[in-house]
Amino acid sequence: MPLTFSGGVHPPESKHLTCAKPIEPAGRPTEIIVPLSQHIGGPATPVVEKGDEVSAGQMIGEPSGFVSAPVHSPVSGTVKKVADHPHVMGGEKPAVIITPAEGEDSWTLMEPFTDLDRTPVEKLVERIREAGIVGLGGATFPTSVKVVPPKGHSFDTVILNGAECEPFLTCDHQLMLSRGAEIVKGLKILLKITGAQTGVIGIEANKPDAVKHLEELTRHTAHIVVAVCRVKYPQGAEKQLIKSILDREVPVGGLPFQVKVLVQNVGTAYAIWDAVVNGRPLVERAVTVTGPIVAEPRNLWVKVGTPIGEILEQCGGLTDDAARFILGGPMMGLAQHRFDIPVTKGTSGVLFLPPPRPEDFIATPCIRCAQCVDVCPMNLVPCEAATFSEAEMLDEAEAYGAGDCIECGSCSYVCPARRHLVQSIKVSKPAVLKRRAERAKSA
Ligand code: SF4
Ligand code: SF4
Repeated sequence: MPLTFSGGVHPPESKHLTCAKPIEPAGRPTEIIVPLSQHIGGPATPVVEKGDEVSAGQMIGEPSGFVSAPVHSPVSGTVKKVADHPHVMGGEKPAVIITPAEGEDSWTLMEPFTDLDRTPVEKLVERIREAGIVGLGGATFPTSVKVVPPKGHSFDTVILNGAECEPFLTCDHQLMLSRGAEIVKGLKILLKITGAQTGVIGIEANKPDAVKHLEELTRHTAHIVVAVCRVKYPQGAEKQLIKSILDREVPVGGLPFQVKVLVQNVGTAYAIWDAVVNGRPLVERAVTVTGPIVAEPRNLWVKVGTPIGEILEQCGGLTDDAARFILGGPMMGLAQHRFDIPVTKGTSGVLFLPPPRPEDFIATPCIRCAQCVDVCPMNLVPCEAATFSEAEMLDEAEAYGAGDCIECGSCSYVCPARRHLVQSIKVSKPAVLKRRAERAKSA
């Protein structure tokens, strides 16, 4: 029986467009736009300026604090400018804009670690930091910070997240098929760093070929297993994955280290292997370019900083006018309106959808059906959390769960009144969390 959690929804998977398409290298971009903020925490500080020649892999922005990450140039070329540029999160933010040189890239790589058994844990953590690795599942939290638990805590299990529960997205699926051995090696590095005894690779049951491949690769490694999870959204959310696989509940308002678990995306494990064994910083990633109006949907290996418009061209363009253009999947992705937005470390998908019906966006009054409550995987009361968020009544919004919402969108997906539930909760959540942090500080 596949492993599961309570709540959740079953949107159409829509993965057939790309699930059998191996990851191919994207073409060389004509311009690279590297945002200095591609992660949770302080943005990187630029260390290059207009006119500088850079090589691929060279650091172009250094971390600005403990919770931060450096950024590197994905190509060799010339810095055109360091300037504000439209950002995936909205508005404009500083970015290093590079004109790629013609021909092959010349690389600046870090010293590879050839003997992992003898490499101290501190050096591995530092390598993850200097390689600019962040959570590639979309959370983009700096990995070097996440792999070290707070004082007094320890990990006993590392879970690699290969669930890929978002509809349409298939790049993690193809990564597991084409780079499974490297992912397992990345998991072994994480086990060494954390001292955890067990590694688990969690995969939804709709990827039987990836399950089989990783089972074969881990057959002789008793402390690493593959866990087959039920196909249900949001199976890939880390608290839900921990519940499904280990039957452990992360406390309300808590984090996975409190139940001794570290969760990392399979793409992050691959990036860790690449940084440690090849000395390569995180400058490329797998991206699914898909949707019913994309001429040739594909999985591509894309340089961070590549404008979305150039990737779309490599997929044959659109067959119809796109009214919706989303970075990520349809449930948690962020709608965009400009093709010069670049791929960042957190971009798992680029999704183009046909125009919506206007009535899909018209919210009507709540009919008190409680469907949103039934599907909420965090056991919150979305209808009330949204109502109080809209009224800016933060105490009440928090009481109904606004601070613990994982923004999965399951409530909005099922609501027959089409209420903008997750949207309203997302607006109040930062203020709710800020108040919670202030209370904890003064306690
Ligand atoms: S309230 Fe938050 S966690 Fe619950 S279903 Fe809605 S978006 Fe998901
Ligand atoms: S699903 Fe929509 S209509 Fe039903 S209780 Fe929740 S908010 Fe109200």
